[in-house]
Amino acid sequence: MKKCSPFFRHTLAVALTLSQLYTSTANAHDQDERGDFGINNPAVAAARAQVFKANPQMAQSIKEGGGFGSELSYAVANSMYSRTNQAAIADARAKLRIEPVAPRTWLLRFPIVNVVVFETDEGLVLVDSGYAPAGPGLAEALKKISSKPVHTVIFTHFHADHAFGAWTLLDQKPQIIAEQRFITQMELDMRSNGLIARNNQQSVADVPSNWDNAIRPTTTFHGKTTLRIGKEDFVLTHARGETEDQIWVSVPSRQIVASADYFQGFLPNAGNGKRRQRYPEEWAQALREMASLKPLLLLPAHGPAISQPEEIQDRLPAQAKIPESISTQVVKGLNSGQRRDLVIDKVALPAELASRPDTRELYVSVRDIGRMVVSEYSGWWDDIP
Ligand SMILES: [Zn+2]
Repeated sequence: MKKCSPFFRHTLAVALTLSQLYTSTANAHDQDERGDFGINNPAVAAARAQVFKANPQMAQSIKEGGGFGSELSYAVANSMYSRTNQAAIADARAKLRIEPVAPRTWLLRFPIVNVVVFETDEGLVLVDSGYAPAGPGLAEALKKISSKPVHTVIFTHFHADHAFGAWTLLDQKPQIIAEQRFITQMELDMRSNGLIARNNQQSVADVPSNWDNAIRPTTTFHGKTTLRIGKEDFVLTHARGETEDQIWVSVPSRQIVASADYFQGFLPNAGNGKRRQRYPEEWAQALREMASLKPLLLLPAHGPAISQPEEIQDRLPAQAKIPESISTQVVKGLNSGQRRDLVIDKVALPAELASRPDTRELYVSVRDIGRMVVSEYSGWWDDIP
């Protein structure tokens, strides 16, 4: 990967991700959108094969990026909104690993994403629920680990891999809680005919166009709230990061933080141009606040649990420094009057961060995060008068 130019790498990584992740489950509408550049074009397939041959490390990198720090499932990767795709449902169920991580606490490790489960005296509290095809496996797993009903489902944000799996739990009538912007963000997706899903190789036909096929929270809050369940506090804190509505959860009685998508085991996905605006600075603040609580256990939504407090105190600040450093460089460059594309070109991680394995450019690049900072401070104008 090192020998590729950034442009070459970005373009090919996107093309390769498509070829790797795009399966026969995609519908005809998606294929039409892709036209002659789709994976069914023999010339495209041949070019991709050449690239893989020349860059054997790329396949591994894409696999890791696609799995987002967890195990990858190609069946799931294209069908996150589907309640009926049998291949995805079966793969989610078969690959689920139930990890007890603390007393009365489990990390359900589905392919790509995790669900956090807390058992309380009043019932189960879930942080997230996975993608829609995780639903059947999720309901079965909860029955296996506890006889308690589902009391509360907390959605950390509206994305398909977090807020769509709870459809199999609705008969238990749980409280479903999210930050109030969850509603508006979900409705943007409903109105835009699967635009973001199309950008991310999801089957457009599965994307809900109204609340009949999506899970509407029973309760929303603004900023911060504390839920008292089974004599324990669950503190929900909003901070715009990956999304407008994103939150994280701390459980002081267990000294546990469920870090949602703020904590990632690689360069934070804070520069994703296929999604709506992200907020690198508030993202960093959330990571700093998590570290200040000195949790004994960190439960991310993607990737393994971190159970060593020293490691948590090393990795949370390191992840925070990435967007902080990039943002500082970008704002300084913009303030000096430089053209924004030149500002982005110069952005780099400080050496002490660049050498860390948990700052690898697996999903987005340092410059992509720079672009996101620019778009937060500015508009879409390209500096041409
Ligand atoms: Zn996620």
